[in-house]
This record gives sequence, C-alpha cells and structure tokens, in this order.
Amino acid sequence: MAYTYDYLIVGAGPFGAVFAHEMHAAGKKVLVIDRRDHIAGNMYTRETEGIQFHVYGPHIFHTADKEVWDYVQRFAEFNHFRLTPVANYKGKLYNLPFNMNTFYQMWGVKTPAEASARIEEQRREITGEPRNLEEQAVSLVGRDIYETLIKGYTEKQWGRKCTELPAFIIRRLPVRFTFDNNYFNHPFQGIPVGGYTKMTERMLAGIEVRLETDYLKERAALEELAERIVYTGPVDAFYEYRFGTLEYRSLRFETETLDCGNYQGVAAVNYTDAETPYTRIIEHKHFEFGAGNPEKTVITKEHPQEWKEGDEPYYPVNNEKNQKLYEQYKALADKEERVIFGGRLAEYKYYDMDQVIRAALDAFRNHSCT
Ligand code: UDP
Repeated sequence: MAYTYDYLIVGAGPFGAVFAHEMHAAGKKVLVIDRRDHIAGNMYTRETEGIQFHVYGPHIFHTADKEVWDYVQRFAEFNHFRLTPVANYKGKLYNLPFNMNTFYQMWGVKTPAEASARIEEQRREITGEPRNLEEQAVSLVGRDIYETLIKGYTEKQWGRKCTELPAFIIRRLPVRFTFDNNYFNHPFQGIPVGGYTKMTERMLAGIEVRLETDYLKERAALEELAERIVYTGPVDAFYEYRFGTLEYRSLRFETETLDCGNYQGVAAVNYTDAETPYTRIIEHKHFEFGAGNPEKTVITKEHPQEWKEGDEPYYPVNNEKNQKLYEQYKALADKEERVIFGGRLAEYKYYDMDQVIRAALDAFRNHSCT
C-alpha cells in the first residue's frame, strides 16, 4: 500500500515537534496532528499584556544535557530566568527549594553545621529505606519542614496522602546547605524569548500540521495516511482503556488581570498549607523580568483536581497501582511495530521538557536507520 506520509505524528507537543523536525530534516514525509487548536502541547504560551502567558502552567526549561541545550538554542534564544519560588505558610514566607535561607527562616540557624544538626536530629525517626513520600521528605529535611512546606502542598497537588505517594516525587527538589534559592541544580536554564509557541513553530517549519484533529476519533481514516505513527497521547486511551483507566492529576487555572504593576514580586508563590484551595499563584511577567504593561499584571491560581474524561491530563500518578496497570499497557505498546509511543502521557512518566526532547531525539535515532 502506498502511503501519503511516512509518519503521522499525533500531538504537537515537544516530543511530536522534535521527532517531526528530525524526520522532516531527514527527508521523510511527515504529518503532525493535534486535538487542540494550537501547537506546543502544554508548553503553549500566548501573548497577553505584552508578555508571554503560560496557558497550561509555568514552564521553565532546565537541563544538564548539553546536547539538548544546544538543540533548543537552534529554535529560540533563551533568557536568563532562574526560578526562585517563595512559600507562604499561614502568612509567613520561606525560600524554596530547601536551602540555608529556608533553614534560617524555620529555625534561626545560621551555619550549615547548625542546619545539618537540626535535620539530623529530626530525620532519626526514619530508619531504613523511605517507603513513601512522607518518609522520604522527613529523611531529607526533617519533620518541621515536611509539616510546613511539603505535606499540605503535596496532598493538595496529588489529592492523596503523602504516605500513599512515591518517594521520587519529592526528590525532584534540591536540598542544599548554601544560601542559594535556585529551584534547579541544572547548569542550563532559561525561558525562550518570545515564548514556547514560537519555538515550537520553528521546529515545525515546513511541516504540515492539522489542528483540531482527534486521532482517537478519526483513527481508521488517519491510519491509512501514514506508514508509521508516533503517538504522544495517553497510552490507556490508545487502547480504549481495555485494562482500566490510569490516574492523572489535572489542573484548573483561575486567571486574573490586575490593575497593579507588581503583585507578588516573584514568578511563583506556593501556598503550602492545607486550607488554601490552590497550590500556587503564578505572576507571569516575572518570567520576563517584569516586561509588558507596567500598570497591569496577569496572575494565575492553580487548583489541582482529579482528572476525569474531558479534562486535560497534566501529571501521571506514578504510584504502585498505576505503575502495575501501566506495565500492562506498555507490554502491548512494546509489541506495536507501526507505532512509537513517546512523551509524558504515552510513557506515563513525570518527564520534564528536556527529558522529553532527549527521548524524542533518541527515538528518532533508533528509527532513522530502519
Ligand atoms: N512540593 C512541595 N512543596 C512545594 C513545592 C513542591 O511539597 O512548595 C512537592 C510536591 O509534592 C510536588 C513536588 O514537590 O508535587 C514536585 O514539585 P515540582 O515543583 O517539581 O512540581 P511541578 O512544577 O512539576 O508541578
């Protein structure tokens, strides 16, 4: 059978865009489709009040992977933004991630030795390998910080008890005994000037893109178009939920434009208590050092919610139950000869953007010689 395209790429997020770019550059015929009315997936940004508004939550690019960093430079210039969020616990402010500023604010300790001694004392309650997020958090930073900066935020974010969540989630955050509020340890960090949408547009230059095209609804017709398929949507949806539904966390965004030039003085303030219904407030202009309209600011409150059909899935809930279910789907996916699964939803993995790009480049290399 003669196909119109070599690859049908389902999803115009970072996995789809990078894979499409590489295959197109290698001379393959590529069609990219997306269910939504825009490209760039959840990285999507659009201009409002003279700045880039992060429509699906804040995205800060950070990586230790030099090849990935050099790769993205081809499509955008990156600014020198560093994420330095502040936590608000019942009206008191703390620096994040957990560092000497936080330890000083929490206990009044002034030296690394004093801070380590405090944490050492508190972590003794955990013996053996931490079995869940609570044990991991207490063992990393002690109970005081766990109760003040982690427990409330995490249980809102995931809608589950910290004792029922995997330990790896909290290991995303650095713990350091220096006065350094940089949220990431990675050497390369920043946000694309002009936004992620423009960056993705450049990746997709010269490639046919069809928006508002739902693969799962028009499957038979679309599959006739291409020899191979790259699928970046939820893996359980691909298989029509035959083994059951994987759980995802979703978000509801409450966005306001305020008549004020600077609302909170920082891009992200995390509300780490259990009572405030949202996890954080994002003030978008600070991703661009206060650019845009000097009299206005755009803020977004993030309300986590359990995903149900019709919502956007944001985070896979990688607990034991879901991992087991995912393994069943993965066993099917591994057997597919015509379909490549990639990205946060198709691999059910809490990937960061740089890891998705790495995965897409690797997938391209694995498939470019077959
Ligand atoms: N976290 C926390 N308190 C905070 C920020 C994060 O306990 O103030 C925990 C929470 O469990 C969260 C995890 O750390 O899910 C990872 O946070 P990250 O900022 O990486 O989440 P993302 O930006 O991907 O939503």
